[in-house]
Amino acid sequence: MSATLPPETRPPATLTDVAETLVHQIGETRTWLEELVRIPSISALPEHADDVRACAERTAARCRDAGLEDVELLELEGAHPYVTGSWLHAGPDAPTVLLYAHHDVQPVGTADRWSSPPFTPTERKGRLFGRGSADDKAGILAHLAAIRAWLTARGSLPVNVKVIIEGEEELGSPNLTAFLARYGDRLRADVIVLTDLVNHKVGWPGLTTTLRGMAEATVTVRSLEQPVHSGMWGGAVPDAFTGAIRLLATLHDERGEIAVPGFADDVRPLSEEERARFAALHEDPDELRDEVRMLDGVGFVGDPDRSLFERLWARPTITPVGMDVPSVANASNTLLSRVDVKLSCRLAPGQDPDRAMTALRDHLIAQAPWGLHVEVALGERNPAWVMEPGGPAWDAAVAAMTAAYGREPAVLGCGGSIPFVEPFSAAFDGAPCLLVGIEDPASNAHGEDESLHLEDFVRACLGEAFLLGELAAR
Ligand SMILES: [Zn+2]
Repeated sequence: MSATLPPETRPPATLTDVAETLVHQIGETRTWLEELVRIPSISALPEHADDVRACAERTAARCRDAGLEDVELLELEGAHPYVTGSWLHAGPDAPTVLLYAHHDVQPVGTADRWSSPPFTPTERKGRLFGRGSADDKAGILAHLAAIRAWLTARGSLPVNVKVIIEGEEELGSPNLTAFLARYGDRLRADVIVLTDLVNHKVGWPGLTTTLRGMAEATVTVRSLEQPVHSGMWGGAVPDAFTGAIRLLATLHDERGEIAVPGFADDVRPLSEEERARFAALHEDPDELRDEVRMLDGVGFVGDPDRSLFERLWARPTITPVGMDVPSVANASNTLLSRVDVKLSCRLAPGQDPDRAMTALRDHLIAQAPWGLHVEVALGERNPAWVMEPGGPAWDAAVAAMTAAYGREPAVLGCGGSIPFVEPFSAAFDGAPCLLVGIEDPASNAHGEDESLHLEDFVRACLGEAFLLGELAAR
């Protein structure tokens, strides 16, 4: 990475020293990022619990190196550690900003489908490959690069800063409510900044105003007390596998649109402003196909009368993500007696999670083929989150990102979920949340060959440094 400002960057006149310092330190920032990427902090796998802790400790050490004070691991029984730190000397009149990221990562999927080992950070074509290189270890480093540049250049920050780096985001933050009850007071802030989102494109930053909610269900389909010989009994006796597939097939119509009665009844239709905002993004289906690497001839699903952005950000989904059946290699000629299926749902703005999931459960039980026994266990669920763009914090973010990227941020939705946002914003009297991009659509977070665009990473770090200044000025 070069130690000069990206050509499009126009630092505010009062911040050239901070920008130059940040760029001067960017090599070391990258070294700190690579250090974190080398730690396989996979929160979902119990055998990696020590790695998640090691990653928290390494993050804490770098928080101290960046100049944060009171750095410590925040613990909660049964939860991976969070990391916190602060710098609170900007005075009582300056706003207090809470900076959020997470240090845990997703499992690697199929390791041998990675072009380089997932925990060996590797640069190719201007991108840094590695699990967590973008989601969300780059988000941690954007915070630290901005803080360090300010403290090095000026010896102070323009705002009071608190940092919270979560350790269980990729698990769906199961202990967040308990965490908020225990530590919420000391994290209280006027504005929350999250660097765990996606930019619109490389070089075109994004601010996200909606997140879909998330819900899970486990469906158990049973036909017999035990598996039986498929030759002796097949043809007359139902098997749970075929039954489960028939049941899953009732969830969507032939277009791939959800067909569960009532499930989507309370989805909030797009407002005129949202429609206009989505239209301003110039949706290009071919480009989306490339970004997600869809195979030739494979079409999009969902209601064709809705734009792809509406389908991705403002409509719900029901997706089977796991099934307990024998693998092909272990298959025998039997009628399966029991099949378990995990369903993962994304909930749209407006949807009441309890209402939607009850509708799903009622539908699955009512549709059981051949009198099979169907049970549905509902799991964790969080509603969608929506903010209206505007206000001083929003304007500060637009100014900062425009200065860093040389282009105004796109106003985006996000189909994903960040459980942290809604409860913390609510607990801080509706504090505005700025959801700032760090990935780009080709980053493939959660997939194989996850990567970070290195030049945009510099712009993201600069954008955050400018944001602290802009927030102080407003
Ligand atoms: Zn993330």
